Amino acid sequence: MKTRVIIHGGFFSESSTSMETKIAKQNALREIAGKAYTYLQDHSAAETVVYAVALLENDILFNAGTGSQIQSDGKIRMSASLHDGNTLKFSGVINVEHVQNPIYIAEHLMQVDDRVLGGEGAIRYARENGFENYNPEIPQRRNEYEAKLAASRTSTVGCVALDAEGRLSAATSTGGKGFEIPGRISDSATTAGNFCNADCGVSCTGVGEDIVSVALATKIVTRVSDGLTLEKAFEKSFAELKQIDGFAGAIAIDKNGNFFHQDSHPSMVFASFDGEEFEIFN
Ligand code: ASP
Repeated sequence: MKTRVIIHGGFFSESSTSMETKIAKQNALREIAGKAYTYLQDHSAAETVVYAVALLENDILFNAGTGSQIQSDGKIRMSASLHDGNTLKFSGVINVEHVQNPIYIAEHLMQVDDRVLGGEGAIRYARENGFENYNPEIPQRRNEYEAKLAASRTSTVGCVALDAEGRLSAATSTGGKGFEIPGRISDSATTAGNFCNADCGVSCTGVGEDIVSVALATKIVTRVSDGLTLEKAFEKSFAELKQIDGFAGAIAIDKNGNFFHQDSHPSMVFASFDGEEFEIFN
């Protein structure tokens, strides 16, 4: 079975991203896609998407984990989820604070019955299970917050992988839109933003409300399961997104190793690797 990974680093901010940042993001994506591909050779798809998303969370260039956006009350709340296309189990954390890698908590939650936790409960669960207190804030985000630079708001991370046994998984992690009302729930820890089954896996980025409104990841995957090609499934789902003038992008791999990406506004950064060829787009 040919293995493949695809990752995304969200949308570029439309007005405040310099060419330098753009190139830095592309280089980071290339490096992380390469590492994830190597990791995939002796790990499952589920383990690999967690590994890749944790690397993206640790990179301050991306709005997830360290370097997450700050909400309107000055706090950082992060969300992440994992969907294992082999077991069909979904797990996630919503609005978790003061942790380094939200995706590791999502992974940890796979072992329990209550697999999606939010707010206080998620933080308590994290502490009880050894996730140490960590401040993900970086000075740049504080400066943006203080200057109320809402333009830099989108840039979630995500990964879909197909392993040697033909299993698919998807993981997504976000620091949110930036300046949101505390308590807002993004799409990233819902099946609208992160969905996978045995046929296809999808991770989304963009405005969470738009993604949830059209159940973007769920629809693309369901359409592939119902027999559409990736391309057609994206075409149909993005046409629905257009009806609400939605702002989103998505990456996908199907069970045959085909991959695809599309965005409503051409500003998403992503990288894909199958051991031979890197595809880097924005
Ligand atoms: N989807 C994320 C949210 O709405 C933001 C993003 O993708 O950049 O919180």
